[in-house]
Order: sequence, then structure tokens, then C-alpha cells
Amino acid sequence: MEEIDGNILVAMSLAKFGIRHMFGVVGIPVTSLANRAVSLGIRFIAFHNEQSAGYAASAYGFLTGSPGVLLTVSGPGCVHGLAGLSNAMANTWPMIMISGSCDQNDVGRGDFQELNQIEAVKPFSKLSLKATHITEIPTCVSQVLASASYGRPGGCYLDLPSDVLHQMISKEEAHTLLENIQILTNPSHSLQNTTHEISESVSLLRNAQRPLIVFGKGAAYARAEHSLKELVESTGIPFLPTPLGKGLLPDTHSLAATAARSLAISKCDVALVVGARLNWLLHFGDSPKWSNDVKFILVDISLEEIHLRKPHLGLVGDAKLIVEILNKEIKGDPFSLGKTHPWVEAISKKVKDNVNKMESQLVKDVVPFNFFTPMRIIRDAIVGLGSPAPIVVSEGANTMDVGRSVLIQTEPRTRLDAGTWGTMGVGLGYCIAAAVASPERLVVAVEGDSGFGFSAIEVETLVRYQLAVVVIVFNNGGVYGGDRRSLDEIDGPHKDDPAPTSFVPNAGYHALIEAFGGKGYLVGTPQELKNALSESFSARKPAVINVIIDPYAGSESGRLQHKN
Ligand code: ADP
Repeated sequence: MEEIDGNILVAMSLAKFGIRHMFGVVGIPVTSLANRAVSLGIRFIAFHNEQSAGYAASAYGFLTGSPGVLLTVSGPGCVHGLAGLSNAMANTWPMIMISGSCDQNDVGRGDFQELNQIEAVKPFSKLSLKATHITEIPTCVSQVLASASYGRPGGCYLDLPSDVLHQMISKEEAHTLLENIQILTNPSHSLQNTTHEISESVSLLRNAQRPLIVFGKGAAYARAEHSLKELVESTGIPFLPTPLGKGLLPDTHSLAATAARSLAISKCDVALVVGARLNWLLHFGDSPKWSNDVKFILVDISLEEIHLRKPHLGLVGDAKLIVEILNKEIKGDPFSLGKTHPWVEAISKKVKDNVNKMESQLVKDVVPFNFFTPMRIIRDAIVGLGSPAPIVVSEGANTMDVGRSVLIQTEPRTRLDAGTWGTMGVGLGYCIAAAVASPERLVVAVEGDSGFGFSAIEVETLVRYQLAVVVIVFNNGGVYGGDRRSLDEIDGPHKDDPAPTSFVPNAGYHALIEAFGGKGYLVGTPQELKNALSESFSARKPAVINVIIDPYAGSESGRLQHKN
């Protein structure tokens, strides 16, 4: 009778539950698992570091709506992978981390890469399971996958001891185990609201003087773009996306309040917030950023979130479904603010003024480059690509802050950035996930040199898999900027060392990708940047554009100086 081992059974289980891609770093005891997965049609993207692979798995979950899978070795591999797992939890994205672990018979004896991994992952996962025998593998795989996307999405962990990976069972028994698994359905599609709460919400919006619709990455994850468009356009209520909500409705939409953010949030009297937490990114919903008596209607899949924020009204369930129900309720007795409504007029006037102000800064060709000149050139090159729009990956304090205001998002889920946790170093991992998840789109990373440096070696991964990714590095020689130490702050015997914020000036980041056969560009003028963008965007091959920026151009902590 033909027998199979635990490695094959894990691969069979992943394939059976629809996994098409995995990210990770192989080694003892999981190399065979990766090879078996490839043999069953799963694409394995091999990274240099589990941290980047984990970031990739987390973003893949957001972009595709099904859990990203990270595979790591035991001990240190698992610890490196925690970066991705915790990032998935912070962003509420579905992901699973699978790690090999030491032989169960050697636990506590100082085995190779030994660690109590179940304990280590606990704070960063919704569910952590260990398969203690080969027969438990199919159930464990199905449970971590289901739990990762069940309700509020997040990270889950599966521990696979090396002895379990080497145990054998008959092929027949393996098939029976796989066939008997019950696949759990997501309760997000069952509603927990009463009709009363829905009609209360509509009546609140209908009677508001200054209503606002805010949406975030939960709405993007729920694919709520069509229902949100209908809601915004039928009611004429202005909208404000959070950074990762950008693109659900185009930034260029006549009701977009993005460029009038401060006015919109400080003056609105009713805010319908869909799939976005009232956390630091939305100033906790507190005054003075928000008005003291604003009434929040929160739409969230998580009842816990509603209990935490205590809004005026909470609608618990899937964002797409709830907005569809709101639309239906409104259709019975339609209302629209109309273009001449004083609130809509005030917002559009502010948007125009602010856009004009920003544009006057952007039009100037400043050399050596500040942040604005190259960002405008990149914006225009991206707009020139039309549809399908590229996925923009952005990180680095100043680069991300300026990019968020200047770059234009017109399609859903085309922006990835440091997110809820402000995680820097996600760039290359996110680029790889985006290229794998959406091969029809170009991926354009707009990164600070510090953000890029966290995982710059993954440019080799871009070249190895020939991914359509163009990485643009804003190189101003350091974290926030080049060496410009304040003498008040740095003194003592090491005061002549490079400042903690600084890197080697004018570093040749473009040469890194050339070392692996990719295309590198070094640019310092508008024309050089335009040429590099035009050539690399049409080539759709891995490239790094090293943009030399004035080392004095960035400010410390970007736009978060008050948190410093
Ligand atoms: P942003 O950073 O864009 O403001 P957050 O990450 O703070 O967004 O909030 C996203 C919210 O969306 C989380 O509270 C999460 O529970 C919620 N969420 C996730 N999936 C869904 C869904 N399908 N429907 C509604 N809400 C969702």
C-alpha cells in the first residue's frame, strides 16, 4: 500500500483548501514541504528573510481576500516570521504562519533551533495549533485557514514538529481524512443588526446638516466599492478615505473630501465610518480634530470594536452587505444633498483651494530634488498608465506622507503602506505579494531609503521571479534626512560618529539590483527621472530607480512630529 509522509499531507491539505501561493524561507525541517507544495501546483515564493516573506503573506491576504501563507523553519525562523504575523493582526488581514519545530521527543533538551513556538506566537495570533500526530494535519490546516478569515480577519499559527512531518500514513487514509473535513463558512455574511438600527442610521444621515462618509481598509477588504459608490452618489454625501481606503472611490471624484480632510472631520455632525477604526489614524474620534458633538455610526465586522468605541450607532457585519442594506433602505425614500448644499459647497471650495496650493508647490522643478518635484513626476507617470492602475507601495516617513497627498488612487486596493502599526520595512515584501496576487498590474514602490534598506536584498527575489516591480528610492541619505545632527543633542566621545539618523550619502542603491541582473537607474534631474520611469514602466521588469534627494529636504518624523 502506498504511504505518504507529513510533508506531503500538509501540501495536500493546503491545495485542497484552495491555497495557490506560499511565501517563505526553507530549511530544516520544511524544505520537503515546500517542494511537495510546488508539485501540487502551489507557487512558492522563496525569500531571503522570513520578515519580508511574512509581510508579503499579510498583504496577500488583504489583496486577495484569502489568507496569505508564510512558511518558516523553527526557532529563529519562527521569530523572524512574527513580524509578518503581528503586522497581519494589527492590520486585521488574514494570514497563516506555518513553522516547522523540533522533534517532540527532544523538547526541553536543547534541540536544534528549539523554541516553545506556541507560547511565542500567542500575543500575535487569533489561533495557534500544533499538529502532534500526522492524522491531525488536515484538521489543523483547515482550522487555521478558517479562523484567519473568520469574523475580523487576522493571523493564525500552525506548528509542525519535525517528527510529525516524517510520520507516514497510507494514501487512502490521507484521502479519507481530507474528505471528512467540514469547511467553516464565515459568519460575516449573517447580519447581527436589527432593522431598527438600519433605519435609525439612515434617518440620522438624512437629517444631518454636515454628514460625512469615511471608509477604510476594512471596506476595501470587504470589496464594498460598488455599494459605497452608490451610497455616495445617491445621497451626495462627501467622503473621506483612510490611506488604505484610497481608491475605493477615485481621489478625483467630485465628492472626495481628501484634500479638505481637516475641515471635513472637524465640522461634520454625523460620520458614517465603514471598516475603519477610530484609532490614532482617525484621531480616536476625539475633539478638537473632530467636533465635540459629532455622532458616529460605525460599521465593522467586529462587535468588540463597536464596544470599544461606543459610537452613537454600531452596525455589526460585513461592510459590503451593510452598505447594500443602507442603499436599499434609502431607495424607499431617496434623499440627496445636491451640489448647492452649503456643506458640499464648503468642502468643494476647500478642496479646490488646497489642491491649487499644493499644485503651486508641485509645478516647480526644484533641483537638487525636494520631495515634491519627483513625486509630481511619478504621479503624472502613474496617471499616464491608465487602467489597470498600478499597485502603489509606499513607506518611509516623508516619502509616504508626501506621496499620500500627491499620488492619485483611482482603483480599489491599489495602495499599500506602513498601515495601522506604522510598520517600516514592509516595502519589498508588499511589492512581491502585489506582483504575485495581481499579475495584470504593474507594482510601483515609492520608498524612502531607510524603508528600502530594511529588506533591500529582496530585489534579488524580484529578479529571480521576474516580477513587474519598479522600486523608486527617495535617497536623502538617512532616516528623515542626511547627516544634520543637532549639536545640542549629540555630544560626548562619539559625537563625531555618523548621526544615528544618517546613512552613507549618495548610496548607489541602483547598483544593488544590477548585481543580480536587474535594471538600475541613478537620477537627479526631472528629465532623468522621466526617462527612467518611461523606460521601466514599459519594460515591466524589475528595476530600481535611485532618486537623489537633497539631504536637508525631509523633516524629522515626517508629519508625526507631535508623537516624537
Ligand atoms: P484604516 O487603517 O483604513 O482606518 P483599520 O484597520 O483601522 O482601517 O480598520 C479596519 C476595520 O475593518 C477593522 O476594525 C476590522 O474589524 C474591520 N473589518 C475587517 N473586515 C471587515 C468586513 N468584511 N466588513 C466590515 N468591517 C471589516
